Amino acid sequence: MITKNKKVYLSSPHLGGSEKKYVNEAFDTNWVAPLGPNVDAFEISLESYLNDNVHVASVASGTAAIHLALMLLGVGPGDDVLCQSFTFSASANPILYQGANPVFVDSEETTWNISPELLENAIISRLSHGGKPKAIIAVHLYGMPYDAFAINQIGVKYGIPVIEDSAEALGSEYLGIKCGSLGDMAILSFNGNKIITTSGGGALVTKGGRMKEKAIFLASQARDNAPHYQHSQLGYNYRMSNVLAGIGRGQLEVLDERVEMRRKNYDFYHKALSDIPKITFLKEPSGVRSNRWLTAILLDSYETREKLRMALAEENIESRPLWKPLHLQPVFEKSIAYTNGVSAKLFEKGLCLPSGSNLTEKELTRITNVIKNTLLK
Ligand SMILES: *Cc1c(COP(=O)(O)O)cnc(C)c1O
Repeated sequence: MITKNKKVYLSSPHLGGSEKKYVNEAFDTNWVAPLGPNVDAFEISLESYLNDNVHVASVASGTAAIHLALMLLGVGPGDDVLCQSFTFSASANPILYQGANPVFVDSEETTWNISPELLENAIISRLSHGGKPKAIIAVHLYGMPYDAFAINQIGVKYGIPVIEDSAEALGSEYLGIKCGSLGDMAILSFNGNKIITTSGGGALVTKGGRMKEKAIFLASQARDNAPHYQHSQLGYNYRMSNVLAGIGRGQLEVLDERVEMRRKNYDFYHKALSDIPKITFLKEPSGVRSNRWLTAILLDSYETREKLRMALAEENIESRPLWKPLHLQPVFEKSIAYTNGVSAKLFEKGLCLPSGSNLTEKELTRITNVIKNTLLK
């Protein structure tokens, strides 16, 4: 049967209805440029969605936004930047772009994100080696908010700004506050696999308008105010295109629906599978609302995880091991890391299940049947 083997993706783009309207507007008005009315409107909508006190600069990618945040904080060659180890490499790559040193910090069990206790140990240890780290990069992995109260408190105590990597957490909330407005600066991603997409894109969220202006200056080739092209600083070509911002405007209109669908996916999996002793789910701590970007489970061993992943692949269902901690990645092997074994264990036993907001109940049933058949045999 053809339908039985139709490929199920981990997380595929899910367009709403208005994206084409805004993209057509860009064509009709000939605003096919890295600035224009869609960019302005997208930024204003994001600002009012997050919290009216923030400023948003839309850029080419989430990675570019992290790079800009580091530049705005004055991170340069030889500086230490603390970064959650359990994350996608894009969280830390810009530290190397700036010639700075990533210092990785392992996770806590409760949220799988940066451990406040280990973060403070890392800061004390770095201070005793002579240098104060220039920034902390904390990540809401899979949409689950990190312990922002504890992390911000540590940031304030030691005078180190927090960059909130909210690439996976647009639509999540921490004590009623939207993720993307919790840090001194935050970044968002609109890559094709994220909760909403512009096909590729990102945003830098700042707390002050001056910071936004500076970000836009650096992201538009650092052009000085002159009739000719005059540059006294190194610039980058990091702005978002007005065409893609049109997709973003349409996507933002359906963000809340997308969050609901992803949370429903989690509930479906939890209901169908939580009785299986070999499976553990990541629970929401109280006061926290995850967008459940991806539903991730832990199995009882690496062998069970691999058995399940391959059984799903056999049925044309995409699943993926959790992020490999950056302190175990060859590209970062020279970096210092403060570890407690949590992220290494998550990498060994964890699996992300298909979580797109466009999954049908039939597909979800097909997936959970494969899981039950594999683990209950
Ligand atoms: C996707 C992602 C990024 C990078 O965003 P891009 O838009 O793909 O550059 C950064 N951090 C995390 C945690 C991500 O998942």
